[in-house]
Amino acid sequence: MDRQQEFVLRTIEERDIRFVRLWFTDVLGTLKSVAIAPAELEGAFAEGIGFDGSVIEGFARVFESDMLAKPDPATFQVLPWRGDTPGTARMFCDITLPDGTPSIADPRNVLKRALAKCSDMGYTFYTHPEIEFFLLKRGYEPGVKPEPIDNAGYFDHVHTGAAQDFRRTAISMLESVGISVEFSHHEGAPGQNEIDLRYADALTTSDNIMTFRTILKDVAYERDIYATFMPKVFADHPGSGMHTHMSLFDGDTNAFFEAGADYQLSAAARQFIAGILHHGAEITAVTNQWVNSYKRLWGGGEAPAHLTWGHNNTSAMVRVPMYKPDKGNSTRIEVRTIDPACNPYLAYAVLLAAGLKGIEEGYELPPEAEEDVWSLTQGERQALGIAPLPGSLHDAITIMERSDLVAETLGEHVFDFFLRNKQQEWADYRRQVTEFELARYLDRL
Ligand code: GLU
Ligand code: MG
Ligand code: MG
Repeated sequence: MDRQQEFVLRTIEERDIRFVRLWFTDVLGTLKSVAIAPAELEGAFAEGIGFDGSVIEGFARVFESDMLAKPDPATFQVLPWRGDTPGTARMFCDITLPDGTPSIADPRNVLKRALAKCSDMGYTFYTHPEIEFFLLKRGYEPGVKPEPIDNAGYFDHVHTGAAQDFRRTAISMLESVGISVEFSHHEGAPGQNEIDLRYADALTTSDNIMTFRTILKDVAYERDIYATFMPKVFADHPGSGMHTHMSLFDGDTNAFFEAGADYQLSAAARQFIAGILHHGAEITAVTNQWVNSYKRLWGGGEAPAHLTWGHNNTSAMVRVPMYKPDKGNSTRIEVRTIDPACNPYLAYAVLLAAGLKGIEEGYELPPEAEEDVWSLTQGERQALGIAPLPGSLHDAITIMERSDLVAETLGEHVFDFFLRNKQQEWADYRRQVTEFELARYLDRL
């Protein structure tokens, strides 16, 4: 047993932990959890806990369903929301086959492979997400319109607001499980909020996002309100994105920074952006994985709809923030397509792979879009070589199907499962007759 594992066992005894939750994530980004008694933990560290992978979305074909969940002691945290005694703790797991080989279906493993490639190239990948979400009075009820908990707007200070109170509780819970929060504020739409996490390596960030979604839903539930990460809840208000700031470090040096260069961006940074734009359409099904994600991308409200980059251009897919004149190690780019309902492990894996491809191939960065892309006509956009993002989940999977980059990054198993699952989602959606159609056509046609 190594030192981290010993630390976990000791803490469990000292803190009187009675339940240890083992967490992992299915291919679509749903958190899975199995609780074990502390006495089982030594065995879990040594061999893993067996489970039937065939019932987990995207994990296994029926004939190879036995899988093991092996807790990663570096992710051990005591959970704050069930009272202190007897306590509950959690660890994220890596999924393996019975012979110990990492499961090709485990999203954590997909990201680890992408990160290994990044480190072979000499870099560490840092990510800092801005997570937007809605607080509603209740969850889904058929025939009832969703209702936000307040009517406030961007950066509004809500005196009596449940939102502020909610954020305070949620943030102290996040901090108590080791997730540092940098900023939080009310966002543009009624009931919409944003919480920004401090930058961390992409694996930690992904674990943090999974924890974040769970904690927020729990805090809301305890207050009789409802938190949702659905990308577009209200057609007439902005949707929820998960803009992510990214940088590559070479040791202690930010590899995106070059003093004196345009926007102080190094060649590696320019090529990384070029990679994300070049492969942007192929990876969108993964960063924006639901039918509803495309209602956000194409519904205005400062969401990007074109494969462009720019500084301080909120219609761009990639933005270069210019907070300070001398950015040094804080140099980074901000990817604005990704939404908070993605599987973060898979989404960061494909974004990283696209960026690294840009560096490997030395892609040239196209000129930046200086204007609001929306203010241009279709013809002007074409003349400037500005291409649109996929218009729907169907468009996105049609482009992804032909992508070697995505197939390689996700691995054949996840790639095939994901496409099949999304084709089915599209088929289910397409056969609906919507309220929009009834209102528009029934009397007229
Ligand atoms: N909510 C907007 C989106 O969907 C972003 C607003 C902002 O710039 O933070 O991307
Ligand atoms: Mg925001
Ligand atoms: Mg942003």
